[in-house]
Amino acid sequence: MSILNIHGQQIKLGDTCVIKLRVGKLPSGNRIDIHGHVFRAREEGPLLLFTAGIHGDEINGIEILRRALSRGLFRQLQRGTVVVIPLLNVYGFINFSRDVPDGKDVNRSFPGNASGSLASRVARALTKEVLPLVDAGMDFHTGGRNHYNYPQLRYSKGDAAARELAQRVGAPVLLGSSLIKGSLRHTAHKMGKTILVYEGGENQRLDGLAIQHGLAALQRMLEVHDMLPSGFTQVIEHPHTRLFERSSWVRAKVPGIFEWSKCSGQPVLKGEPLGWIRHPEGEKEQWVLSKQNGFIIGHNNSPVVNSGDALFHIGYT
Ligand SMILES: [Zn+2]
Repeated sequence: MSILNIHGQQIKLGDTCVIKLRVGKLPSGNRIDIHGHVFRAREEGPLLLFTAGIHGDEINGIEILRRALSRGLFRQLQRGTVVVIPLLNVYGFINFSRDVPDGKDVNRSFPGNASGSLASRVARALTKEVLPLVDAGMDFHTGGRNHYNYPQLRYSKGDAAARELAQRVGAPVLLGSSLIKGSLRHTAHKMGKTILVYEGGENQRLDGLAIQHGLAALQRMLEVHDMLPSGFTQVIEHPHTRLFERSSWVRAKVPGIFEWSKCSGQPVLKGEPLGWIRHPEGEKEQWVLSKQNGFIIGHNNSPVVNSGDALFHIGYT
């Protein structure tokens, strides 16, 4: 389409602008807007959406999009349109929190409601104003508190087109995972649009490896949609990829002080020791063992764990 209309703003081919989606106000009266950076090439083509900070404390994704913006990557577009939203959940970001102030998770609140909870209003702004225009996208996340995720792209299990796109884009790990009700990926899927989820690192912590692989995946997403000029100087090699359609957690059988001996990015064998849990008052310790042959795609960095806590996320085939 030669004129793109987002939130009442008309954007012509070749134009670049920032749209501000109003979602509400703080109790102090300050306005909360979501900023969407729109880049249109002179030639028509697909519209890709890149989002981060839907969980406000997952900073790596925000940093990935910040670097892509500051390096002028999207100004290289030879065709199509890119919408970049580096910080979707402003409320969570300023409160160092995954959620919005009422405790609700934006990524469980899609498609959202304009008169609903804060999380629901944030979700609604994206669903109504942006998602209908999107052909495909990538949503950037990290593990939760103390949970490190090895750089990975997640696609909807059973969705052949999403799997193929993930394979073409590539990442150190590709994981087929079930759609979660209320998530951005779920709502987009129901609208016939593929959103890949990039996971890397843990919340509240910048991680160089996760940022590097996230930036590379973002650039390859543009390349596989033929949106960058041929011979683009920053072409990034497709990484060696491991694909898993199954994964499970190794959990703590006892509480105590936890120390891992294996971590994300390492292959493991069934029965192999992954770490220890020790009683804080003595020598008593219990090994944590792998339940199957596989590859560690996430691990827990907490030094103190309770029974049942998730310690290692193992991908396997
Ligand atoms: Zn997240």
